[in-house]
Amino acid sequence: MNNPNIGVLGGDARYIHLANALSRDGYEVHCMFLDSPRLARGVHRAEDFRDALPFCAALLLPTPVCGQGLELNAPYWPQDRNRDIGQFLGDIGKTALVLGGAFSPAVKAAFAAKELRFIDLMERDDLAAANALPTAEGAVAMAMEQMEITLSGSRSCVVGCGRCGRVLARLLAAMGSRVTVTARRPGQLTWIADQGWTPLETGRLAQGAGEWDVVFNTVPAPVVDRRVLDALGPGAVVIDLASRPGGTDFLYAAQRGITAVLAPGLPGKVAPKTAGLILRDTILPILRERGISV
Ligand code: NAP
Repeated sequence: MNNPNIGVLGGDARYIHLANALSRDGYEVHCMFLDSPRLARGVHRAEDFRDALPFCAALLLPTPVCGQGLELNAPYWPQDRNRDIGQFLGDIGKTALVLGGAFSPAVKAAFAAKELRFIDLMERDDLAAANALPTAEGAVAMAMEQMEITLSGSRSCVVGCGRCGRVLARLLAAMGSRVTVTARRPGQLTWIADQGWTPLETGRLAQGAGEWDVVFNTVPAPVVDRRVLDALGPGAVVIDLASRPGGTDFLYAAQRGITAVLAPGLPGKVAPKTAGLILRDTILPILRERGISV
């Protein structure tokens, strides 16, 4: 029996590593809207999606699926080539398993119009948990770029105690930073204290802000507001990891001359191979559940 055909359509550097890994796993991988010298020899490059798309049992779409509007997010494909997803949606088999990350309302509507179903990988807890480490490492790297002092010996604050916040606090503490971690639930504040970090209610951020050299925000709500920014000491830096538009009043920070950076998509930027393998590890069980296995 032939091994299952998997289509990888577009995507950033993570998807090169994802395609290579799935090919190593034994799948017949067909890349469309994605070409790179770093693709492994066994990976097929489909010049025309019509050559491969109809035969694929599963299709892997980028994260996010589209850049602007309905344009496939395909940075490894010539800029002058048509990348509108409308051109291939009609060729996707009704039984094909479609997986991608972050489907915008416009993309969802285009899929619904063709009666196509999909799984949004960004809604999966296992992927978010696995991505916390490359995200935290990327945040540390960004802070080191922006700060004028070392993290060792610094005073830092991690706003939010979720998956990213917890891993980031651990890294910062291991690097010798004195870490404050904020949360809104009393149980979490106790847990933070148990870790040896300073707990603070997220709503009281402004009260501690004068002490910190760097603030990392992981809360997807407007928490690093004017009051917090006004309370920061000179030279303090804000690194905002939360999904767009972040939780920082960036306009006000710019007016006050405070360095505040929104840092989206860190796993793909700082560790594309790790992030690609995390995608593979998330996708494989889903493929196997559907009987698409080698
Ligand atoms: P998470 O596990 O859900 O953690 C989010 C934290 O924010 C939790 O502590 C949550 O508190 C808190 N929170 C949410 N809404 C709040 C509000 N209105 N007020 C106060 N606290 C609030 O999420 P995560 O996986 O750590 O991800 C954090 C953010 O980073 C998300 O926006 C995610 O999309 C983004 N992200 C960015 C990157 C990147 O590369 N920049 C990578 C991965 C994730 P409770 O526990 O009390 O709800």
